[in-house]
Amino acid sequence: EKMGLNEIRKKFLDFFESKDHYARESYSLVPQGDKSLLLISAGMAPLKKYFMGVETPPKNRMATCQKCIRTGDIENVGKTARHATFFEMLGNFSFGDYFKRESIAWGWEFVTKHLNMPVEKLWVSVYLDDDESYEIWNKEIGVPKEQIVRLGKEDNFWEIGVGPCGPCSEIYYDRGEKYGCDNVDCKPGCDCDRYVEFWNHVFTQYNKDEQGNYNPLPNPNIDTGMGLERVACIMQDVDSIFEVDTIRAILEAVLDISKAEYGKDEKTDTSIRIITDHIRSVSFMVCDGIMPSNEGRGYVLRRLLRRAARHGKLLGIKGAFLNGLVDKVIEVSKVAYGQLEERKDYIKKVISIEEERFQETIDQGSEILKEYIEELRKEENKVLSGEKAFKLYDTYGFPLELTKEILEEEGLEVNEEKFKEEMELQRERARSARTDNSLEAWKEDVFSQIDDSTNTDFVGYNNYVVEGQL
Ligand code: ATP
Ligand code: MG
Ligand code: MG
Ligand code: MG
Repeated sequence: EKMGLNEIRKKFLDFFESKDHYARESYSLVPQGDKSLLLISAGMAPLKKYFMGVETPPKNRMATCQKCIRTGDIENVGKTARHATFFEMLGNFSFGDYFKRESIAWGWEFVTKHLNMPVEKLWVSVYLDDDESYEIWNKEIGVPKEQIVRLGKEDNFWEIGVGPCGPCSEIYYDRGEKYGCDNVDCKPGCDCDRYVEFWNHVFTQYNKDEQGNYNPLPNPNIDTGMGLERVACIMQDVDSIFEVDTIRAILEAVLDISKAEYGKDEKTDTSIRIITDHIRSVSFMVCDGIMPSNEGRGYVLRRLLRRAARHGKLLGIKGAFLNGLVDKVIEVSKVAYGQLEERKDYIKKVISIEEERFQETIDQGSEILKEYIEELRKEENKVLSGEKAFKLYDTYGFPLELTKEILEEEGLEVNEEKFKEEMELQRERARSARTDNSLEAWKEDVFSQIDDSTNTDFVGYNNYVVEGQL
């Protein structure tokens, strides 16, 4: 019998409770008393005040399972086996109490004795010059040198904007050649899905200030983060996090509604996974009190919801459907998140109002595009002008991808080059008129720019600066 996602969460919290940690449920996705953050993107984020010594923690050892949103990973969703915009991060934390030795030893104990992962499949990474961690892994734990890699700053140094940060050490699982790539040097740190990073142990020993200085903290801390969905994926031996028991149930609901087939066509599969992921993000965000809007976290919510709706269109779903998926999200998540059940009616209402609104936009845009297509036919032209595509986007909020999709079906295309030029002009106009709230399309565009620039391992940027920019 394979371990379910909900079961793994409990096992983790119980384990650290047995190591004298105070285990508590997730904090809200909305940061409390932290203006530098848009959304919680890691287990340590709501605990920053304890790491920095601004407040005293309830106990100097804690463990949580934290809801996280990472919009910086949005372009990876559905494409890699391991990225979601919403995921749960399991973590154990030491506030000036234990350090590397204990964290590594307990991590290893949990993974090999409680999850029973085979030792020969496990790899670890350490920060370039962190010989201390290297020695602990090799000499004390007994991980062979061949299964230890040294990685640079982009992988093994953790920081989110200002605040506590430090070198880290990660545990990877080798899922075998079938998930590998052509890279002769394919090993942990490679971008493919063979070696899955699942547990990051951060040795928080610096405090980064506004000027970029790394100041040593009075007491070194421990901050670890393990992706619950990734562990479940490994434990259940499935291809991707979308096949993990609880998430697969949501994916099945998407299949039911769309009548699409999974595993036949890459593009279809990507849309199915995007909807499956985004509906989780959206349900949890609304549950935590976020409302769709044109700025800040409300805008993140709006964009995720509309993106899911758009992929529904690509799958051929007629009318609003997201609302119908919420029940499934709640059903599979409520053991750990009782608020979902309590706020069910509210969540569904907020989502359906927003989806209806988007639907109107789509309907209106489709009508106009239809006219454009007729004109093209008359002119015996195959390419829709960039100006027209931009007008659809800018004035009617009609997404370019949808324009492309519809044109494609008709054997037509769009002048994207010109579209981009128009977009650039608009961007410049917008820059000089930042206070104008009617520029919704511009904002959407700013968001996609942010996604592009943050689609790296460095996850903090978007969470720190987005609010100001939007
Ligand atoms: P990756 O390199 O795979 O993008 P990461 O280094 O950005 O992961 P960390 O910031 O170290 O991830 O976060 C700690 C853990 O959280 C990771 O080891 C992973 O298990 C999990 N995790 C991170 N990002 C995601 C995501 N987008 N979806 C699901 N799990 C994630
Ligand atoms: Mg990484
Ligand atoms: Mg990492
Ligand atoms: Mg990442």
